[in-house]
Amino acid sequence: MRERPNRHAWKACEVQASVGSNPTPSAMISDHDAMTIALAEARNALAHDDVPVGAIVIHNDTIIASRHNERELRNDPTAHAEILALRDAANLLGRWRLEQCTLVVTLEPCTMCAGALVNSRISRVVFGAADLKAGAFGSLYNIATDPRLSHHPEVVHGVMAEECTLILSDLFKNLRETKTS
Ligand code: ZN
Repeated sequence: MRERPNRHAWKACEVQASVGSNPTPSAMISDHDAMTIALAEARNALAHDDVPVGAIVIHNDTIIASRHNERELRNDPTAHAEILALRDAANLLGRWRLEQCTLVVTLEPCTMCAGALVNSRISRVVFGAADLKAGAFGSLYNIATDPRLSHHPEVVHGVMAEECTLILSDLFKNLRETKTS
């Protein structure tokens, strides 16, 4: 079980090296760059017929987790990219509190993932495409600003929204074509 976090830590070093080794503001991972990485992660879900959603967790300008949706692969209704990335990040940091962390995800989190994000005390959530059918950070609900809850992460939405929407619509177009052929 220790292999996966270690593997991701190695990947994190690789990414950090590509943006420079000095911790100057210019070396910080931008939301756009982070979303590009999350999109690449999302594409991995297609290999096992899962809906392509990718999520990464950033801590101290280092990517400490990178996962994609594995619901079909694992026959697990909770295996959304965000949940898997939160678990990897918590394992790597050795704590369940993910303060000072940012989660970047290609699609607006659902109620389950929004709940998990609030419970993790994550500082910041960045998402790409809005999910008008299930989104819980503004579309159907807004878990992030609900005054009845005690934690309110900063939420940034619409980062590379077109690309994040396109990867989903490509999948559903392919599925329709497969069905009709
Ligand atoms: Zn979810």
